Amino acid sequence: MLNLTTSVALFDRAKPLIPGGVNSPVRAFRSVGGSPVFMQSAQGAWLTDVDGNRYVDFINSWGPMILGHAPQVVLDAVTKALPNSLSFGAPTQREVEMAELIRQMVPSIEKVRLVNSGTEACMSAIRAARGFTGRAKIIKFEGCYHGHGDAFLIAAGSGALTAGEPDSAGVTRGVAQDTLTAPYNDLPAVEALIAANPGQVAALILEPVVGNMGLVAPADGFLQALRALCTEHGIVLIFDEVMTGFRLAPGGAQQLYGIKADMTTLGKIIGGGLPVGAYGGREDIMNQVAPAGKVYQAGTLSGNPMATAAGMAQLRYLHEHPELYTALEASSARLADGTRQIAADLGLNYTVNRVGSMFSLFFTSEPVTNLEDAKKCDTAAFGRYFHAMLHRGIYLAPSQFEALFVSTAITDELVEMYLKACRESLVEAHGL
Ligand code: PMP
Repeated sequence: MLNLTTSVALFDRAKPLIPGGVNSPVRAFRSVGGSPVFMQSAQGAWLTDVDGNRYVDFINSWGPMILGHAPQVVLDAVTKALPNSLSFGAPTQREVEMAELIRQMVPSIEKVRLVNSGTEACMSAIRAARGFTGRAKIIKFEGCYHGHGDAFLIAAGSGALTAGEPDSAGVTRGVAQDTLTAPYNDLPAVEALIAANPGQVAALILEPVVGNMGLVAPADGFLQALRALCTEHGIVLIFDEVMTGFRLAPGGAQQLYGIKADMTTLGKIIGGGLPVGAYGGREDIMNQVAPAGKVYQAGTLSGNPMATAAGMAQLRYLHEHPELYTALEASSARLADGTRQIAADLGLNYTVNRVGSMFSLFFTSEPVTNLEDAKKCDTAAFGRYFHAMLHRGIYLAPSQFEALFVSTAITDELVEMYLKACRESLVEAHGL
């Protein structure tokens, strides 16, 4: 048995102080039960919790730690920057260098603005798109997450062509009216929304590969068709690459699929573990942003010197070591293919979706191409699997509807450890 005594005690202390005891809902073990594990330290692939238990990390802070934890190259950069003050609120050389590097790695980004989170990046990107087009509405896909901006916390309306409904208390109907939603991978639904709202759609935003309903890949030709539709109708195509940026390829999903987005939002890896986001894209759109243009957006800590030190170090390392992506592809393929094979051996035939170093084991034997499909999963069995894996030292996201993120610190030996735990845990979860 895992000894989680200190974690449980800390969670008990946190609950009267912090809503739900956590500073972000995804950290709570709401859907799998039990107390969240409080972490103490991490190195490479390994996390150590406050009770001294060790786990191999497949969340990696929900994506940023692509090189594993505490990589020397990032620690050195932060250590070097540290004595020169933690913030100026004035421009620095590193911000210019970072903008140059981002543009080099993601060529569709002609101009870029640094912010402090993926949420800010996505909120700001749609404001810029609205300012640029003079239109109000946006299209998003059910099950794609773009941070907690009001415009994104919208569920599908009652009919295919009706405006969305607030998906969170505190979001107004007024806001919901301007967000149209379609099922992922459903091109006719997007075409119908555009036809029903002629000349009114400012932007279409999506995760080009979805990580937020579990891992869901775009169907063949889907991204190309969206690109063509947006061009035809003057709609700003926004790729939310907060998860996929610098992960699926040095230039993100748009490099992998050969598509040029009008705007891109970034986060996670770009900060190396410190709070950073970015949005950028076509120069004519980005020229709308203040102080160059009339779309207001600002930030006291934007381009923060610690965050740019960590982010630059990690990005530069990735840029200079493209072979890391080949290695990540190989280890991730072994993990995902092995998982699929184990489930098949056990007669479960579960669906495993993978793109690059992101993958999900869905507790259903049906294909998963959108949110409806994902919802068919046996989440109770997933919960049992999650705890069985945790007890075997494998740290997964505590929800069926998340992807695993593989870091470069996952060695062949750790792949084997994961696969052994996977087999035992699937057996345990299903009483086989
Ligand atoms: N977009 C995507 C695709 C995300 O996965 C996330 C966070 N998981 C966000 C935006 C929001 O980023 P943040 O949590 O940094 O605000």
